[in-house]
Amino acid sequence: MTLLAKRSMIKEDKSNIITLGAIAKEEKKKDPSVTNATIGMLYGEDSKLFAFESVDKALDNLSTDEKYAYAATPGSPLFHEAVKKWIFREYYDSMKDNSKVMATPGGTGALSNTFANYLNEEDYALLPNYMWGNYKQCLYENHQSFKTYNLFNDQGGFDVEDLKIKMLEAKKNQGRILFVVNDPCHNPTGYTMKSFEWDMVIDLMNEMSEDGTPVILLHDMAYIDYAKEGFSYTRSNIAKYEKLNDSCLVVMAFSGSKTLALYGVRIGAQVAYSKNKAALEEFAKANKFSSRSKWSNPSNLGQNIIVKCFTDEAYKKSFEDELKEASNTLVKRAEAFLNESNKVGLETLPFECGFFITIPCLNPDFVYERLVKKKVHVIPMGNVIRVTISAITMEECIKLPKLIKEAIDEK
Ligand code: PLP
Repeated sequence: MTLLAKRSMIKEDKSNIITLGAIAKEEKKKDPSVTNATIGMLYGEDSKLFAFESVDKALDNLSTDEKYAYAATPGSPLFHEAVKKWIFREYYDSMKDNSKVMATPGGTGALSNTFANYLNEEDYALLPNYMWGNYKQCLYENHQSFKTYNLFNDQGGFDVEDLKIKMLEAKKNQGRILFVVNDPCHNPTGYTMKSFEWDMVIDLMNEMSEDGTPVILLHDMAYIDYAKEGFSYTRSNIAKYEKLNDSCLVVMAFSGSKTLALYGVRIGAQVAYSKNKAALEEFAKANKFSSRSKWSNPSNLGQNIIVKCFTDEAYKKSFEDELKEASNTLVKRAEAFLNESNKVGLETLPFECGFFITIPCLNPDFVYERLVKKKVHVIPMGNVIRVTISAITMEECIKLPKLIKEAIDEK
């Protein structure tokens, strides 16, 4: 007998990231020579969790109210402006009035709210076939489901053709389209879309919505500030939203966990962009309702740290410098890992930058077991294993490809 409601009986967090991450953490505690390449957080070359000094300083200088008082459900106007300035940067003046912000507990809160308010029950979202698995759980929780589009075409580029096919089907089946793009530094592959690929996505959205069909792009930008091309490239892609027509809405899911390494503070935001002013008003109303019902109000502490780091000149410059350094560390680790992979003939999925590198293999669970025996912990998922280069040192990045290749080839 179960006391659970019908839909809850099959609820089980199948994501092995947290479970295997916890095992790896325990193993490393017992034996520091263990490599823990599991969890999506940034670690320094000293194998300690990385923290920004400017973030620490901002936290130290918050008043009691700024830290502990209840926040307003949508977040504060100062936070909204800070996030807009950060995300739009040089395009702030032209984009700010066509956007609205809702503070959320991390990018996850932003994703969950967006699914809840832009799909009907029983509708499905379009997700990339390689993905951060929690999208699926957010959808199930909202009584919704998903279909996938191919992330890569035969040339290893973004598969706009397949996205179009899946969009046409969704339009026919449910009269609306909600699709997720996780860019730049896609989790788990590390792919970053080219500028022309973004142009094609924007054209496709306009084409699909020409007859008034609602087209919603949920842009998961968790890793936006780690793109090796830098702020100007990532923001120039965001500026392309200005070309979208009135039936389109973009909701960007911003993560304070990744940009500021505030993982446990739980702060992020939905940033809606549309030329349709009524759509923005509806966005604010419906998402405020959802936030109030799910978490009541977001972290005040997280919001106020962000306001300082994004807008107060005393913190902003040093925060940006530190962020560039953190991002460079990742670039160097990736170069080392890929160089060694080349040497030993280890194949990876298309990669540009970011926290993860993904390796295709036939039996990821076996590869995982074999690697554990070699004191290496990675995440097996679908038909790949994911290596978190953000969590390991340069030395480990050099060492790992050979060990992984041996584990894959072992008979
Ligand atoms: N999106 C992607 C692709 C992620 O990898 C993560 C976290 O790992 C998130 C969103 C959500 O992170 P958070 O809720 O901590 O902001």
